[in-house]
Amino acid sequence: MIRKVYKFGGASVKDAAAVRNLKSIVEQHKNDDILLVVSAMGKTTNKLEAVLAEFRKHNGQLGFDALSDVVCYHEDIIVNLFDKANIDQVIDKVSPLFLELYDKLRETDLDYDYHYDQTVGYGELISTTIIAAFLNESGVPTRWLDARKYVMTDINFRSANLDWDETRVRIQRLLPEHINGIVCLTQGFIGSTADEKHSTTLGREGSDFTAAIFANCLDAEEVTIWKDVDGLLNADPKRFSDTVKIPHITYSEAIELAFYGATVIHPKTIKPLQNKGIRLKVQSFIHPEHEPTLIDSAKIKQQQIPSYIVKDNQTLLSVSPRDYSFMDERHLQTVFGACNELKIHANMIQTSALTLSICFDSDEAKIRQLVGRLKKAFKVLYNTNLQLFTIRHYQEGFESEYVKGKHILVKQSSRSTMQFVLG
Ligand code: ASP
Ligand code: MG
Repeated sequence: MIRKVYKFGGASVKDAAAVRNLKSIVEQHKNDDILLVVSAMGKTTNKLEAVLAEFRKHNGQLGFDALSDVVCYHEDIIVNLFDKANIDQVIDKVSPLFLELYDKLRETDLDYDYHYDQTVGYGELISTTIIAAFLNESGVPTRWLDARKYVMTDINFRSANLDWDETRVRIQRLLPEHINGIVCLTQGFIGSTADEKHSTTLGREGSDFTAAIFANCLDAEEVTIWKDVDGLLNADPKRFSDTVKIPHITYSEAIELAFYGATVIHPKTIKPLQNKGIRLKVQSFIHPEHEPTLIDSAKIKQQQIPSYIVKDNQTLLSVSPRDYSFMDERHLQTVFGACNELKIHANMIQTSALTLSICFDSDEAKIRQLVGRLKKAFKVLYNTNLQLFTIRHYQEGFESEYVKGKHILVKQSSRSTMQFVLG
């Protein structure tokens, strides 16, 4: 039985020292029947996106050296990780992946989303190939699994939807095959279409979701997301000083935080765990001895810690009927219908008698289309480059330092949540 799923993101495998650290964590738990879900190393996914853009710009007519940054980065890690005697052997394992990637990058006339999914996921394949070799060499017996044989999706490239039934059947085949003491290792982020002919991806930062998929299908006890922070913090330490760790929150609260823009956990991760009561831990790979944040369904007795979440690059759009009628249900239906068709997701909504305001992630093309659809019946105004600032569990009378001196375009609060659109 596989009981625990560990997810290691890009930062946790960004160089040879990081991979050694991963090994020492895994080594301590190798008899816990674990499955590792590992991302591409460091910022490889970003780099591959840039490489893909270059190949497309040049209609595939680029030499292999267009990949040299990515190749050197991984070779450097290999050289620093393995004994001299083993380096060539590991390079021999990853070279075919680079060549395959190169062939796929050179293909022409492909739809962008499709081309993306056939190429960018190589970051994960290369990363896990290196890490599996290293674990095996270091006395942690490891079995490498190709996630594309387990995670089955539709053809919605770059944001593929999971085929839960088929995925479950395939992942459950692992159970009788699993040998106690052997660590399973697979890739986050990638999957494939049912015929296994085309790779797919689950969307950026999708590896957390992969961990949740495996855990759900395996009826695992626990998922641990290993991070470079001490757990779930009440704010992004890059923006706020005095952040504190949230020791324990419920699944629902974690979903709320992710919804408002907390980026620690991919929003799709929680539901598959909540449905099976699988606890989620967010733990530091730098200080694995520190207590993790625990996310489960147990009621929290102590007072909730206020959380501060900032979402950049927001657009605030306001819509009023041109005929001066009220912003009634019929009008709301028209506006939200258009948003739905254009896949504009509202991060905040405020209505008054004559105006509806919607705050969403800026996307120029979508704004143009939305305005185009609405401008006949509505007066439409919008502001871009705004911030949405959300405080969960705000304390009455508390006005955050963060808002001071900023232009508040909208303020709204419910019992538990206060939101500001800031200019
Ligand atoms: N490597 C992918 C990304 O950077 C998936 C992940 O890390 O979750 O988005
Ligand atoms: Mg990540």
